[in-house]
Amino acid sequence: MKYKDIISKLTLKQKAALMTGKDFWSTVEYEELGIPSASLSDGPHGLRKQAAASDHLGLNASVPATCFPTAATMANTWNEELGERLGEYLGEEAAAQRVNVLLGPGLNIKRNPRCGRNFEYFSEDPYLAGKMAAAYVRGIQKNGVSACIKHFAANNQEERRMVLDSVVDERTLREIYLTGFEIAVKEGKPRAIMSSYNKLNGEFTNENKHLLQDILRGEWGYNGVVVTDWAGCNSRVEGAKAGNELEMPSCKYGVDDLVKTVESGEIEESVLDECIDRLLTLVYATDNAVKGAPETFNIEEHHAFARKCAEESIVLLENKNNALPLSALEKVAVIGDFAQNPRYQGAGSSVVNPTKLDKFTDCVKDVEINCIGYEKGYDRFGKRKNGLIKKAADLAAKADTILFFAGLDEVTEAEGLDRENIKIPENQIECFKALKALGKKLVVVLSCGSAVELKTLGGADALLHAYLGGQAGAIAVAEVLCGKVNPSGKLSESYPVEYSDCSSSPYFPGKQMTAEYREGLYVGYRYYTSANVETAYPFGYGLSYTKFEYSDITVDKNGVNFTIKNAGTRDGAEVAQLYVSMTGSGIFRPVRELKGFKKVFLKAGESKRVEIPFNEYTFRYFNVKTDKWEEERGEYMLEIAASCTDVKLTEKVYRDGTTDVLPYEKEKLPSYYSADIKKVSDEEFTYLLGREIPPSGYDFYKKNRMVIHENCTVADLRYSRGWTGRAFSGVIRFAIKFMRGIGKRTTANTLVMGVLHQPVRGIAKFGSMSRRQMEGLLIMFNGKFFKGLKTFLTKERKK
Ligand code: BGC
Repeated sequence: MKYKDIISKLTLKQKAALMTGKDFWSTVEYEELGIPSASLSDGPHGLRKQAAASDHLGLNASVPATCFPTAATMANTWNEELGERLGEYLGEEAAAQRVNVLLGPGLNIKRNPRCGRNFEYFSEDPYLAGKMAAAYVRGIQKNGVSACIKHFAANNQEERRMVLDSVVDERTLREIYLTGFEIAVKEGKPRAIMSSYNKLNGEFTNENKHLLQDILRGEWGYNGVVVTDWAGCNSRVEGAKAGNELEMPSCKYGVDDLVKTVESGEIEESVLDECIDRLLTLVYATDNAVKGAPETFNIEEHHAFARKCAEESIVLLENKNNALPLSALEKVAVIGDFAQNPRYQGAGSSVVNPTKLDKFTDCVKDVEINCIGYEKGYDRFGKRKNGLIKKAADLAAKADTILFFAGLDEVTEAEGLDRENIKIPENQIECFKALKALGKKLVVVLSCGSAVELKTLGGADALLHAYLGGQAGAIAVAEVLCGKVNPSGKLSESYPVEYSDCSSSPYFPGKQMTAEYREGLYVGYRYYTSANVETAYPFGYGLSYTKFEYSDITVDKNGVNFTIKNAGTRDGAEVAQLYVSMTGSGIFRPVRELKGFKKVFLKAGESKRVEIPFNEYTFRYFNVKTDKWEEERGEYMLEIAASCTDVKLTEKVYRDGTTDVLPYEKEKLPSYYSADIKKVSDEEFTYLLGREIPPSGYDFYKKNRMVIHENCTVADLRYSRGWTGRAFSGVIRFAIKFMRGIGKRTTANTLVMGVLHQPVRGIAKFGSMSRRQMEGLLIMFNGKFFKGLKTFLTKERKK
């Protein structure tokens, strides 16, 4: 142990206290022993340091910081170097604010487009997500600040996120949900990782020894700190046993629980010592760096970098008859609220208070676009207002070209709740139709952080997806529209034609107790390409104002080489992708999987030789029989592609393999071998899981009544025996309905995020309650009101 001496001077109580937050954002300090406090702050695309009132949902103000494009946006750059530089900027701002641990990046897999937090995550593909996350981590940590990758793991829906059990077979878990984290850990070397709220295969991730010990520390060699998500600590003791160093935020009873368990002999004090040694390593390393860092940063320079990131992440989805770039001569009408009030980030704990904010209606004056006016066109939050459409159409009638800004509002894409559908709001569609009826050139600029159905915007001459471009997103859009910047973003997620096309649509969201990942490996493009399901826009897709030619593929034992030529007349950048597949495989596999990529910048007419090397991820699969990563013997197809459906070059390579042991009996997994996975039977899923499927419903002891425990949510209290629980739940549910009814969606959503899906444990922790008070609540909810109230109000007698 590195800090044996200091640790030996700590009392048991001090040790337990160190392993639990001091308050909402920092750790305990012991000045007399030279142990400083460490401060932790969100977030993934900009600092959210709260100087006054604290919360984990982005409700209260934070100090101004640069709002960079969100991860979903940055992933479209496919540019690790840019991600690393973004990390440096984030780290610099964190250090300036004396923040030791920056809570990001988040790299959960976009299993389903409705997950409310997809805008905060990189991709549906683990390789791309892992590479981008590793780059961020390297950048952030260059400043001595610690990154904290999150949310580990299989936290792929928001609803009931604090209590739900993600039921995932081991191979899917490894190949889809953990590979990104593995890459980020091995290549980024984060000093901290945040366990997620949910359970994974029956255990809270923070207590899951298989996840935290066998895999994270054992296989990946991680020796940093594991911190809980906020109030995500179920049992402090089980967490410590699994190797969790830090419960956040402060908790009235976490410390006592740990002390009592050590005193009772259930765990050795040395378990705490080991945790504290790792925690101190983090605290000292970051403290030194942070204290010496400059206290200010160059706001303009950071803004300019945010702009650069936004420029590279914009994806051109449609460009009929070279509708874009716009010429300086055409008269352009700008329509849509998002042009004036940009949609540039999501809602929740990642919300940044930007240092400044570009608006398209201002930026358009700085570029060569002949703008003749602006009209709002529609109500941002979905209310029908025909007057707005009329005004928009009147303005548009005077123009040659209409720029229509559409997208999702900030209340729709938010932490703590999932989207109800993936549609563009109806009132925007109506406006779009009225504009289209004018028969002019119509260009749509889309702003949202996750996949939407786009057929309703069909027929536009050009479609530019700006995603959530951060505080300088608007100027980047203007530059792409006028051609000053050549778009080079490519989609890091698939755009289904409609929601029901998604592989997980029958299984999402998990309700009551479990989320069953029956679609297995077939997430995103892995499903669409394997099951031949057409998408609106495929993974990896994006147009440019120039064109690229691929040629001369060669393969050797180290990787693939090929040539890309910019065959057009403008400078530009292409993202070349390497997919690997195998026909006649003994195991089931998606048709193709991303195993490498390279973003190449080319001047008009220029050619470059590109190399994509193989690595430990290229040919492996997780074999559940040998319980190891293995390689199958045989011939692999290597595809160099411009998107997952646009293969340009192919080659083959033979590999000897590592085992002939096949993990499955093929006839028992017909859905998986055929990629027809929307109706996986219980029997088949049981076989894939290798165990019984856990009960998915509530544990009622009689009709609609269940015993309320600390992991029952406010929504669940409707089934409690006591009227208190039912009344509390009823009032909250009524309030949510009522708020929605009168159009106060923000308030309604805050109630959903902060209260409805909050377990009793969360209420106790966020409410600074003692264990006894929480027990008092439970007694009341379970039907003994006065006994519960007495327990709640009286202090525990000291023995
Ligand atoms: C989120 C985390 C965040 C934490 C602190 C939680 O609700 O899931 O991502 O870092 O709050 O704000």
